[in-house]
Amino acid sequence: MGYKLDEIINLPKIKNMLDNLYCATNVPYKVVDSEGRILISTGLKEIFKNIHNGNINNINDLGQIKNLDQIMMNVDIPIIAEGNHIGTLSMVHFFVTKPDVEYFKIQARELEIDEEEYLKAVNEIPVFDIEKVKNFTSFLFEIGDMIAEMAVNQIKLTELSNKLNKQYKKIVKCQKERTDFFANISHELRTPINVIYSAIQVSKCVLNSENLDRQNKESKLSKYFDIIKQNSYRLIKLINNLIDITKIDANYLNLDLVNCDIVEIIKSITLSIQDFIISRELNLYFETNVENKIMACDENKVERIILNLLSNAIKYTDRGGSIYVRVIDKGNLMQISVKDTGIGIPLEKQKSIFDRFSQGEKSFSGIQQSSGIGLSLVKALVEMHEGNISLNSECGEGSEFIIELPVKVIKGNSKVHRKYDLNSSSKVENINIEFSDIYAI
Ligand code: ADP
Repeated sequence: MGYKLDEIINLPKIKNMLDNLYCATNVPYKVVDSEGRILISTGLKEIFKNIHNGNINNINDLGQIKNLDQIMMNVDIPIIAEGNHIGTLSMVHFFVTKPDVEYFKIQARELEIDEEEYLKAVNEIPVFDIEKVKNFTSFLFEIGDMIAEMAVNQIKLTELSNKLNKQYKKIVKCQKERTDFFANISHELRTPINVIYSAIQVSKCVLNSENLDRQNKESKLSKYFDIIKQNSYRLIKLINNLIDITKIDANYLNLDLVNCDIVEIIKSITLSIQDFIISRELNLYFETNVENKIMACDENKVERIILNLLSNAIKYTDRGGSIYVRVIDKGNLMQISVKDTGIGIPLEKQKSIFDRFSQGEKSFSGIQQSSGIGLSLVKALVEMHEGNISLNSECGEGSEFIIELPVKVIKGNSKVHRKYDLNSSSKVENINIEFSDIYAI
C-alpha cells in the first residue's frame, strides 16, 4: 500500500484507548505494523518481558508439549485495510486458567533461570477466563476494524491532499506561464507596432521632403510600405494564433473534414515555400512512398500545421542547411515528417516544446521572433485530427517533427476535394502570414 501504519493512524489516541482498556482488564495489549515493529504496547511487565523475551521459544515449547492448560495466550487481530494487512492488534500474555506453581517451578529449573524471579513474573500474568476471551475477541475485532477505517480515511485524506497539492502547483505554474506570456506577448505585439509606427513617421518625412524627386520618393515609400505590410502580417499571425488557441480552449474551433488527397496537399504546401527557401539559401526535399492518399482532413488546418513547422524549420536552420518533408503511407496511418539540419532543440527544452508559450534557444542569426504559441497550436490541431506529434532533435544536428494521422474516410462524401490551389490569393496570403516573422526585407 506504500504507507507506514504509524503514518496513517492516530497513535496517541489508540494508545490512550488501549491504556484504558488495560486498566479495566489488566491484560496487556500491543499494536505492531506489517513488518513486526511494535508501535504501541501497554501493560507489558518489564521483568516478565526480560524473562519471556529470552526464553520465548522454550516457554512456548514446554507449555505446548507438557501442559496445554499452562500455555500463555495471545489473541492476534489482523488489521486489514482495503484488503491489505497493515498491522496486528494483540491482547498478549494471559492465562485462561490459574497457573500451576509446581509446573512453573519445574520449568524454571529446566530453563535454568531464577525460580523466584520467574514465579514472580508468572504471577503477574493475568488470568482471563476463556469465555471472557471469546467475548472480548469480537470487541477487539471491532477495534481492529476501527483502526483500519482510520487508516483508510487517512490514506484517502493524504491522497486527496497530494492531489490538491499537485493541482495547486499546476495552478501556480499556469499562473507563472500566463504572466510570462503576457510579458512576452506584449513585447511581440509592440515590436511590429513600433516598426509600423516608425515606418509611417519616416514615410511622412519622405513625402514632405523637398530634397527628393518623385522617383526617389516612390522607391523609398514602396520600401516602407513593404515594411508596414510585413509587420502587419506578423501582427495578424500572432493574433490568429491567439484567437485559435483561445477557440480551441473554449471548444469553438471545429474541423471541416473533407476527403482529400493528403499527399497532394502537403506536396503543394512544400513547393509553395520555394521562394523563401531560395532567399535563405536552403535546400528543400519532398519525399513520399505513395503518389496519392485520399483521407478525411481539414485542408486549412493541415496547411496551418505544415506551414508552421516549415516556418520554424526555416527560422532555425542556417544558410546552406536542408529541410526534408516526408509523407509516408503506413496503411492505417499517414506519417508526415518535417526535418531540418538546423540548430536543434536542447534536451531539457524538448519536454515542454509543445507546451503553450514555451520558447527554445533563439537562433544564432538573432532575427527570429517567437511567441511560443505555434507548436502548441500545431499539437492541438493534430490532436483535433486524432493524431499525434513527436519530436526528435539533437543540438547542432537538427530537429524532426513527426506527425501521425489516422487514415479515415468520410462515407457518403464521395466528392474528393478540389485540387490544392497553390496560386490562389488566399493561399499566398496564408504563406505570407505564416512566414512573416522570418522574411527579412
Ligand atoms: P513561435 O510560435 O513563436 O514560433 P513555436 O511554438 O513555434 O513558437 O516554437 C517554440 C520554440 O521551439 C521556438 O522558440 C524555438 O526555440 C523552438 N523550435 C521550434 N521549432 C524548431 C526547429 N525546427 N528548430 C529549432 N528550434 C525550434
